[in-house]
Amino acid sequence: MNGRCNLACRYCYLYAGPDSGWRKRPVAPAAPVLDAAARRIAEHAAAHGLTDVSVVLHGGEPLLADAAVLGGVVARVRAAVPAGCAVHATVQTNGTLLDEDRLRTLAAHRVRVGVSLDGGLPAHNLARVDHAGRPSWTAAARGLRLLAEDRHRESYAGVLCVVDLASDPAEVYDSLLAFSPPAVDFLLPHGNWSAPPPGLPAPAGRPAPYGDWLCTVFDRWWRSDRRRVRVRIFEECLALLLGVPAATESLGLQPFDAAVVETDGSIEQVDSLKSAYEGAAATGLDVFRHSFDQALAHPGIAARQGGAAALAGQCRRCPVVRVCGGGHYAHRYRAGEGFRHPSVYCADLERLIRHVAARLAEAAAA
Ligand code: SF4
Repeated sequence: MNGRCNLACRYCYLYAGPDSGWRKRPVAPAAPVLDAAARRIAEHAAAHGLTDVSVVLHGGEPLLADAAVLGGVVARVRAAVPAGCAVHATVQTNGTLLDEDRLRTLAAHRVRVGVSLDGGLPAHNLARVDHAGRPSWTAAARGLRLLAEDRHRESYAGVLCVVDLASDPAEVYDSLLAFSPPAVDFLLPHGNWSAPPPGLPAPAGRPAPYGDWLCTVFDRWWRSDRRRVRVRIFEECLALLLGVPAATESLGLQPFDAAVVETDGSIEQVDSLKSAYEGAAATGLDVFRHSFDQALAHPGIAARQGGAAALAGQCRRCPVVRVCGGGHYAHRYRAGEGFRHPSVYCADLERLIRHVAARLAEAAAA
């Protein structure tokens, strides 16, 4: 919804990564782009008899756009979809621009708010700075405290946190819970075999540092909080272990079903692919000339509909493949060879999955 950001986080894969496509795009979508996108969503919902559609207003920083404009986008989509199709709308923000007026306007349009943070303390967020290098934490924490107040509770979608090995996992988890989120999700930093994430390759004697980090948080959540706060990666892992299909792109073998509409109307694959190489998310399609069904047939997206058969041999033979699914697609990339590899987080994913399975087995035995 806005192709720029008021922050310049030091690890940002979008504006400081290999893909510079954002430079050529308009800052904000014009009305014809919004109309065409709404028509395409409605067309897709009608063609497939969908009863639910999720619309995530992303950026850059989407709240650089007027909250009423964001609400208007969702209203367009709701007006266009067939009767009986619910549109679940969320804005994913860095939190720094949240204020009373924006929250009221978003609530009036039934747009929920998710906030991205690296933890719940200033020290966790040192890399989240503005374009002058000033910390964003004070503004983000102010926005998050406002969102957590009772009158905005219904709008509070949750907190999204990228794992930082330099931060203590228990401290990060507890500090996030201090903001009373209804849900938390932990994401692994984007990286791949050619541009490994921080801390990988793993040091000798500690083969799965991200897995260890997540296991520490899992135990805390499992022991005390699992009935009061949802942690998506853990819930999805448990669901997959129990044979229930997951709805995440980080785990599992289910076909991936999200598309991005850029500010110029281009249909792209998810932004995370931009961490791999210039143009990795591009499809050559746009909402003026192409349907989302045509996007689904694009080779890059079709490759993500093939379940286990589309994975690397090592993954197909892996005992935890049904839960892991080869991990996040962007994390499988190796330059010159493409995406048919295990995740760069292979050891970490297996560590987490086996740990969660063991806790589940203990609970079942008890
Ligand atoms: S744990 Fe590794 S080998 Fe197994 S499915 Fe996941 S990425 Fe593939």
